[in-house]
Amino acid sequence: MPSPDTSILIVGAGPTGLTAAIELARRGLRPRIVDKKEGPTPLSKAVGISSHSLDVLEASGVSKRLLAQGLKVRHVHFHVETRELATIDFSLLPHRYNFLLSLPQRETETIMADTLAAFGIGVEWRTALIGLTPCADKVEARIGKSGKEEKHDFDIVFGADGADSTVRKSLGIDFEGYTHKRQWSITDAELASWPYEPGAAQAFLFRNGDVGFIIPIGENRFRAVSNTPDALLHVPGNYRVSQVLRTDRFHIPIRQAVSYQTTAIFLGGDAAHVHSPLGARGMNLGIEDAASFARRLDNGTLERYSHERRPVGRRWIKLSERILWTAQSTNGFVKALRNLAMLTIGGIPVLQRPMLERVAGLKE
Ligand SMILES: Cc1cc2nc3c(=O)[nH]c(=O)nc-3n(C[C@H](O)[C@H](O)[C@H](O)COP(=O)(O)OP(=O)(O)OC[C@H]3O[C@@H](n4cnc5c(N)ncnc54)[C@H](O)[C@@H]3O)c2cc1C
Repeated sequence: MPSPDTSILIVGAGPTGLTAAIELARRGLRPRIVDKKEGPTPLSKAVGISSHSLDVLEASGVSKRLLAQGLKVRHVHFHVETRELATIDFSLLPHRYNFLLSLPQRETETIMADTLAAFGIGVEWRTALIGLTPCADKVEARIGKSGKEEKHDFDIVFGADGADSTVRKSLGIDFEGYTHKRQWSITDAELASWPYEPGAAQAFLFRNGDVGFIIPIGENRFRAVSNTPDALLHVPGNYRVSQVLRTDRFHIPIRQAVSYQTTAIFLGGDAAHVHSPLGARGMNLGIEDAASFARRLDNGTLERYSHERRPVGRRWIKLSERILWTAQSTNGFVKALRNLAMLTIGGIPVLQRPMLERVAGLKE
């Protein structure tokens, strides 16, 4: 069990590292949290916050602020070409947060950093971990700040430093997996004369395997994602693009660390697993990893951390790969079966519960 003097280093102040710091701070611990960036991400990145993440972030007061700023998305409409086949209804979730909360990641990180500051802990920005050396009963961390390198000893280190994790690399832990060849695109834009249900997300599946998704992220603002070079081209409808806020292209990496821990060093979030954005679980899995790390550090069960969290990441990677494969399929038989499944699920709402509970993080 930790004492108030236990020295804890959190590397990375994305959603995973910030959650870990907040969850430790509200239990009376005082971690150091460093990040090489200037401040919270300027990008919108992850936009979907799950019911379970809201549960996790409730005790610290973060959820209340997220709920005040975010949009409650209750419906996802699935279309094949231009025909709507099914509506997935988050209101069917037996939970008080029976929606997906949409809020750009920069807002989420800002709220988290402000909450942490209210506990008296500031993120040390422009401060990079250079390397870690595990010693007998301590971990030596080399930290770079203002062009100078410092060495500090810590009892516990939590690596929340993203997919390119220095913590993971310092330990020589393999990040097993592959990267999909197909290029995806992402566009954040202001749209006018929106022809679909306001506040709902839309998914479009095309016969040739192209897919397009769009979710509201603010007033008249939307996030479109597609497995083609132009995300908005795959959102059919009679709307107007008032302003493109941001576009990007990316390949989907599917990777997982072979272990999430050594004796005193732990990995969470993208440092431990990366997968497709379908299902909006990336940031949420990281928030859950961080909450588990903080709870286990507090109750003295950290040795079970990787044992608990790695299978959860594994199961989601497998499920999200199945969803991706089915969504992009060009095989006539697979498409017919998929469309029939969507029609059935759309027509018998109770069948939506198991999938909704997985996306909401309520069942692993
Ligand atoms: C364009 C884009 C769109 C996305 N859309 C979605 C989405 O819709 N839904 C979803 O769930 N996920 C999405 N994701 C993924 C989501 O953003 C990540 O899963 C999430 O950010 C992971 O959080 P994290 O805190 O684990 O890692 P990160 O957010 O990557 O944070 C890691 C932090 O560590 C810091 N760092 C790295 N190395 C060091 C070092 N050596 N020393 C100190 N600091 C360091 C970095 O500066 C960074 O701030 C998207 C990602 C991108 C890029």
